[in-house]
Amino acid sequence: MPESAAQQSLAEVPLTELVACHECDLLMRRPVINDGERVECPRCGYELYSHRPQVIRRSLALVLAALLLYIPANFQPIMQMTMLGQTSHDTVWSGVLGLYDAGMQSIAVVVFLCSMAVPLLKLLCQLLVLLSICLKIGRGYGFLLYRIYHHMREWGMLEVYLIGILVSIVKLADIAELSVGFGLFCFIALLLVQVWLEVTMSPHQIWEALAGEDARARH
Ligand SMILES: [Zn+2]
Repeated sequence: MPESAAQQSLAEVPLTELVACHECDLLMRRPVINDGERVECPRCGYELYSHRPQVIRRSLALVLAALLLYIPANFQPIMQMTMLGQTSHDTVWSGVLGLYDAGMQSIAVVVFLCSMAVPLLKLLCQLLVLLSICLKIGRGYGFLLYRIYHHMREWGMLEVYLIGILVSIVKLADIAELSVGFGLFCFIALLLVQVWLEVTMSPHQIWEALAGEDARARH
């Protein structure tokens, strides 16, 4: 059978030359690729890895842009609301404080973690990982931080928060005078930069950059 013959030959290949698809677990020989090329799984089409040029520099620029946007996104008004002659300027941070004061402490903590704390920690992890690759220092911490970053990915839910904001704007538009604030634009920009960063900062290349240097440092 050709399949068992292929498996037999794969069994003789050293582990370092094998790669498994994250989606369908297909085991195959690690293809050699050049800059700008990408490898897809022959069975399910999932992108195994790609070699984009200047990944570290581009990711670093995006992380810094995201960190700059983080402050106005959370502390500038998302919307201005006028109701019964009173105007309020609502920021993400004032929303967290409002929930806390209204006796919804547990919801305030969840909103704080998902919309402020985790996204900031994720960005700081990414920044430190990239800096450790760039400056060639603290490679061990780089590994640890990148692992932590992967665990935190599931907890940063900016997009869910954005949908919540948009729904509340639509609902409140009937009963109050609303105008969208500068903070909302920063929030949307932050979200877009983070998505762009996720696409740019290919995990395979980051692990490789970390591991390559680590192996050299150990010997
Ligand atoms: Zn696959």
